[in-house]
Amino acid sequence: MATFSQHPIGKFMASANWKAALSLYLFFAYFSVLLQLILFLSHSTRFIGLRQAIVMSFFWFVPVLLLHKHTKLVTALIGVVLWATSLVSIGYFCIYKQEFSQSVIFVALESNVAESSEYISQYFVWWMVPVFALHTFFAYWLWRNIRQLKTTVLVRWSVSLAILFVLLIYPIFKYTQIDQKSTDDVVEKMLTNIEPAAPWQLVTGYVQYRLQLNNMQRLLENNAKLPPLQNFKDVHANKPATLVLVIGESTNRGHMSLYGYGRKTTPNLDEMRNKLNVFSQVVASRPYTIEALQQVLTFGDQEHPDLYLTKPSLMNMMKQAGYKSYWITNQQTVTKRNTMLTTFSMQTDEQVYLNNTRVQDSRQYDGDVLDPFEKALQDPAPRKFIVVHLLGTHMKYIYRYPPEFNRFKDKAGLASILDKEQVEAINTYDNAVLYNDFVVSDLIHRFEASKQNGFLTYFSDHGEDVYDSPPRNVIGRNEGNPTLPMYTIPMLMWFSPEWRTDRIAQEILDRPYSMAHFIHTWADLAGLSFTEFEPQKSLVNPAFEPLPLLIGQPQKPKELKVICQQKNYEGSISLASKGCN
Ligand SMILES: [Zn+2]
Repeated sequence: MATFSQHPIGKFMASANWKAALSLYLFFAYFSVLLQLILFLSHSTRFIGLRQAIVMSFFWFVPVLLLHKHTKLVTALIGVVLWATSLVSIGYFCIYKQEFSQSVIFVALESNVAESSEYISQYFVWWMVPVFALHTFFAYWLWRNIRQLKTTVLVRWSVSLAILFVLLIYPIFKYTQIDQKSTDDVVEKMLTNIEPAAPWQLVTGYVQYRLQLNNMQRLLENNAKLPPLQNFKDVHANKPATLVLVIGESTNRGHMSLYGYGRKTTPNLDEMRNKLNVFSQVVASRPYTIEALQQVLTFGDQEHPDLYLTKPSLMNMMKQAGYKSYWITNQQTVTKRNTMLTTFSMQTDEQVYLNNTRVQDSRQYDGDVLDPFEKALQDPAPRKFIVVHLLGTHMKYIYRYPPEFNRFKDKAGLASILDKEQVEAINTYDNAVLYNDFVVSDLIHRFEASKQNGFLTYFSDHGEDVYDSPPRNVIGRNEGNPTLPMYTIPMLMWFSPEWRTDRIAQEILDRPYSMAHFIHTWADLAGLSFTEFEPQKSLVNPAFEPLPLLIGQPQKPKELKVICQQKNYEGSISLASKGCN
């Protein structure tokens, strides 16, 4: 009977110099795993990046095994490449405490020259020198300790093939044959897999940046060719005005004390309540950022989803009205998912991209938008349109607020049926809502203090179910299995006394409304009218007509559902074709 020790792999394991294998692995892994470990341990990002770095470091065994005689030379050459690219990532981490990503390349290459050199000059602070020196010395020491593997040709080839099979061949087979993904998606998946490892952050970062840039350019060219809105009129024409649109993220109004939540999660907005117009029955049409905003910011809606490509957007509309426009965002910039968002941002005159993390589940605070907002307010341009896009209460909730906002820690105010893990999730979500309250109220205070004439609207792109809907076992969002908290969003408005003296009537504040039609409300508030304007779709218009609150994928009209009542979380969504009763 052939024992395992006679098998080629067994022979390798028995005969191979384990110290040699370990010395090689440590050398390759050092350049990626160390940084991923620091990112993970400092709670900057999730475990998956570390896992990918650990796995992908095995890849370098392949050239070493195949060019076995030249182990020292091959490892030195690979080492130089890994060392150089890791310097960029480490330098970036030292300054920003974040992982390098394609968004960094975008911001560095697309920003104007002054900003780029500012960016680069930040890399050269004095204490980087000892950090780099230590890093270089340690890498050299690891290389010095590398030993040659003593194996047969057969073993070297089998191990190389096995590594290639696990890291490349099987994943590609799985994505194409089992998961039936498109070529684009397979490329995207593979790039994402290798990205956490040096030197691939730089390579994939640049490839993805080029790909997204092309897509975006196409969308922008298409947008530039659209005819303007017809018979355009502006009742405030040539008068100074500042209009602000604050887009929140993943905030279910059911978790805001402003909307009656038991915990005091929105103390600042509560306090300024008599200055605000708080809408009580506004819903999102889709539970995902891009899909939701594609309707909020354009004429596209659940019945006409493609109008976002063929009619001007809200940003185009404001430009047509002669406003200088700004897009200040704390959301990720260049990812395949966010191409549409970045395209929207490029339809404004000035952009500030604050979030360069590789994955959305990374630590990033919305307070970063306050200074750029202040700067935009101070811009002497007489007519300004400012969009602020927050990260709000996006997963992972604990990454959304600084420690001083960690106020909800126990079970106080929560249902007794919730277990420890659920309580933990709700507590971190409520803390994120508390921090969001600080950011949104601060934006309003700053706007008010600037004494500029205009208004500010805040809404969340969609909600989030945080064990809210019965039987309280759902967290997150799922369009296929919709629950009310995924759609019930906050929407509020603040007007300068000059723009509007009276408050919006309660009867109007209580109208059921889908954000899919928001462009009509915005135009109405801004005093704009044109042929495409439909007053019955404006929440604040006397001609307003309540329309079905459609949710679901607009590409499957027969499966669309409708939100019937929003007062509690039970029995409130039904098939659109059946209607509400
Ligand atoms: Zn979102």
